[in-house]
Order: sequence, then C-alpha cells, then structure tokens
Amino acid sequence: MAKKGLLIVLSGPSGVGKGTVRKLVFNDKSLNLCYSISMTTRLPREKEVEGVDYFFVSKQVFEKGIKDGEFLEHAQFVDNYYGTPRRYVETLRNEGKNVFLEIEVQGAKQVLEKFQDDDRVVSIFLLPPSMEELEARIRGRRTEPEEIVRARLSKARSEIDLAPEYQYNVMNDDVKRAAKEIRDIIKNRL
Ligand code: 5GP
Repeated sequence: MAKKGLLIVLSGPSGVGKGTVRKLVFNDKSLNLCYSISMTTRLPREKEVEGVDYFFVSKQVFEKGIKDGEFLEHAQFVDNYYGTPRRYVETLRNEGKNVFLEIEVQGAKQVLEKFQDDDRVVSIFLLPPSMEELEARIRGRRTEPEEIVRARLSKARSEIDLAPEYQYNVMNDDVKRAAKEIRDIIKNRL
C-alpha cells in the first residue's frame, strides 16, 4: 500500500502572495502535489475559473455542505465562507498523493487540531517582508473596494500574530526564493 500522502497547510495574510508562490512550488513535479480546490461564496475575480481556483457556490449551497459534514474545515473570512471539501483530501492522501491546502488561519487551526497526532501534516506560514509591502500589494491588485482592502489589512495583522503556531515560517521577500524554501521543506518531509 502507498505511504499516506502529506497534508500541507499553507497560510498567510491576504496579499502576501500565497498563490504565486504555490504555483512555483507546483512546478516541481517530483513533489507529487495535488491542490485542494476550496469552495467559497465569494464572487469570482476577473480571470478566476470555476473548478480551478475555487468552486464558487451560493450561501445556501455552502450552508448545506456544512450541515452535511462535507467540509474538512471551513471559516468565514471578510463576509464570505471558505471551506475545504473533505472527500478529495482523504481520497488523494490515501493514494499517496501530497495534498496542498492554501487556507486562512481559522481553518488551518481546525485542521491542525483535527490532525494533531498525524506526523504527515506540514504547516507553513508565509510572511510579508513588512506591513507596508503587504498594503502595497493588496492595493496594487486593485481587485477590491477600499473598505474590503481595509478589512483585509486589519485581518492581516491578527493573522500574522498566529504565525508561531505553524511548524515553519517562510518570508516572501522574493517569490522564487520563498518557493524554493517551501519545496525544500516538503522534500525533507517526504
Ligand atoms: P481570497 O478571497 O483572497 O481568495 O481568499 C481569502 C482567504 O481565504 C485567503 O487567506 C485564502 O487562503 C483563504 N482560503 C481559501 N480557501 C480556503 C478554505 O477552503 N478554507 C479556509 N479556511 N480558508 C480558505
């Protein structure tokens, strides 16, 4: 039987560049990674694709999923729900694939508690080089109105406070360097 796959949890404040770093990490096919596509009630941003970036659903569908126990974890983040469908993660890990979750801190906390005895869980927090840099990145994205930008920035501060609860902290001062550091962490845990 295949060795159970790793469950890799990557968190970090909005705008820190998790998606960009993750894409570079996924370029290394030897890591045998699968991305867990989350479900969300947020509206798609321009260029986001259903079933690739997220499964975009209504609040009703999401709440039914919660009631039916379909989520490994779920959380509310600035007025929207986000959650990790349970089945995909379990099936792929059992096949020996390394499943990668990119989730915010409340959801990560649920996962880390649920799997506290599982030594195949790897938790990584991606840090911005500074708050000024983070603000510039969120504003530079120009995808959210001002009040949402502010809400995300204030949330970012409280999220960064939780970085010490993760096994690894990686600074995104340079995407290529940060991606390499994460690839090395994963290799060490394979
Ligand atoms: P965004 O709206 O910027 O795509 O995501 C907002 C935050 O929700 C990000 O920190 C992102 O990593 C997180 N997120 C995405 N999917 C999930 C999920 O399934 N569960 C949780 N708890 N957070 C998620």
